[in-house]
Amino acid sequence: MRRLVALLAVALAPPAHAAAGLQLPPSLPHRTVTLPILMYHRIDVVKPSLPAITQRLTVDPHVFAAQMQWLHDHGYHAVTQLQAYDALERGARLPSKPVMITFDDGYRDVWGKASAVLARLHMRATAYVITDRISGPDPSFLTWGDLRSLERRGIEIGSHTVTHTELTLLDDAEALRELRDSRATLERRLGHPVQWFAYPAGREDARVVALTREAGYVLAVTTQPGTTQSAEHPLELHRDEVLDTTGVAGLAAMVQG
Ligand SMILES: [Zn+2]
Repeated sequence: MRRLVALLAVALAPPAHAAAGLQLPPSLPHRTVTLPILMYHRIDVVKPSLPAITQRLTVDPHVFAAQMQWLHDHGYHAVTQLQAYDALERGARLPSKPVMITFDDGYRDVWGKASAVLARLHMRATAYVITDRISGPDPSFLTWGDLRSLERRGIEIGSHTVTHTELTLLDDAEALRELRDSRATLERRLGHPVQWFAYPAGREDARVVALTREAGYVLAVTTQPGTTQSAEHPLELHRDEVLDTTGVAGLAAMVQG
């Protein structure tokens, strides 16, 4: 019986990185990887009553489904954060035509309108969430239950700070609080390390990047366009923004660089 318990404990143990967390090598390798990272915000029917900025950041659910289907039909593989990390920092091979799909801000659409499409096509993705808004008074944001459901569908959770304040506007202590507290909350609620980050409004500089590393993140995405990612700058990954006007043709152009 004791042996069975021990065997079960080994079988059920999370992978080593999950228990201990990842650590960036002290000297980052010189390596680049071609990996388009797509940035979405809302997936919803665009209502003319919405403010122009919201409309711009909203992709129609049918368009989103067509974009994912196009990627799938053209042999693209939506990779996980760990696959991207391993490729950059450890030289692992990515599958052919890799792409990373990300959602900023933690809108409920990620669960309600995007996750079923992704799950059906076996595509992985990441949702960067603002921890103060999770299960908060505004029903347009995800709940803690949604986050656990997303993880079960293969959608990873990353941090997008506690309050979505631009980190470049904060002093070191305040910025570290946003970085560390959001990570600690996510780790406590989800039960595993969370080391993926997205800068609010894409605002970062050398100081903010250093603080992000100090707070224990190992990959962070910006809003700087481009598909060439550098192992020397794992906390400054490039992303291409998918907007209401992008469509399938625009997305195809993005991933083809
Ligand atoms: Zn944001």
